[in-house]
Amino acid sequence: AQGLVKHFPFRDSLGRMRGAVRAVDGVSLAVPRGRVLAIVGESGCGKSTLGRLLLRLIEPDSGQLRFDGEDVLALSPAALRAKRREMQLIFQDPFASLDPRMTVEAAITEPLILHKLHRGRERARVAELLERVGLRPELARRWPHEFSGGQRQRIAIARALASEPRLIIGDEPVSALDVSVQAQVVNLLGDLIRDLGLTFVLISHDLGVVRQIADEVAVMYLGQVVEQGPAETLFHAPRHPYTRALLAAVPGQGSTAKLLEGDVPSPVSPPPGCRFHTRCPFAQDLCREQVPLLQGEAHRAACHLQESLPAATPIREAAAD
Ligand code: SF4
Ligand code: MG
Repeated sequence: AQGLVKHFPFRDSLGRMRGAVRAVDGVSLAVPRGRVLAIVGESGCGKSTLGRLLLRLIEPDSGQLRFDGEDVLALSPAALRAKRREMQLIFQDPFASLDPRMTVEAAITEPLILHKLHRGRERARVAELLERVGLRPELARRWPHEFSGGQRQRIAIARALASEPRLIIGDEPVSALDVSVQAQVVNLLGDLIRDLGLTFVLISHDLGVVRQIADEVAVMYLGQVVEQGPAETLFHAPRHPYTRALLAAVPGQGSTAKLLEGDVPSPVSPPPGCRFHTRCPFAQDLCREQVPLLQGEAHRAACHLQESLPAATPIREAAAD
């Protein structure tokens, strides 16, 4: 994706146009094939909108979108429908993503029929898919309400796999589940990605989950990517003060930093200069005036001071002063 922009009209209580919510405001990303890219950030940072843009479920205002070298925005509606087979979305809520009036078998058979896959042996294919996600094939005759949240999410994953996608986008795929079940579903996703060679975009606010399976991480703040890099590097040596604050706020990592105090500014009128300056403990005049650009190669960050900030750990002490 190159320079993707999506603004939504923002109306006041009388329905008058009052500007635009700059949900996604100039995002360029490459998702490495066969790898897991995590898009992280607080709620409202635009990550879900970005996920839908990547699948062209919503149309960007501007920018470019390529999938395997093909210009996705230039596809005709029919060609896009065909392409959709290769790009699937898994939602947060396993209760909403399955039709309560369809048995598991019907739900998983639907994409098989739509895309004319495994004709004449749909039932056997449903059984294979259920086994693939760790469920007994006999469960195919049951209804969604008969399953737990974790099982329903497995069924939703089986349904997504039915169309034999190459790219899956998971929008908070485990955050509605009990913590004890989350790890199992994340492990399942990790196995499927590896075994089937899937490319996976994980949208999540939960850095614990991200740490479990991401190869690459992009951090979003107010509609923009502020840091991107290999997961290992980004977790160990984050460059952007916002990333550092997010990491410091992960429970179980020592004191919860005070770095993220203050509200996220409105995406209707983001602050000038660096959008993070209203919450950044290092902000200087330069930050309020000039927009920092993403700098770096494999590991990029958009911060004027990234070269001169102290190493990651002492920041917490500095902020506590
Ligand atoms: Fe903070 Fe300035 Fe860097 Fe923005 S550019 S993150 S305000 S130090
Ligand atoms: Mg969201």
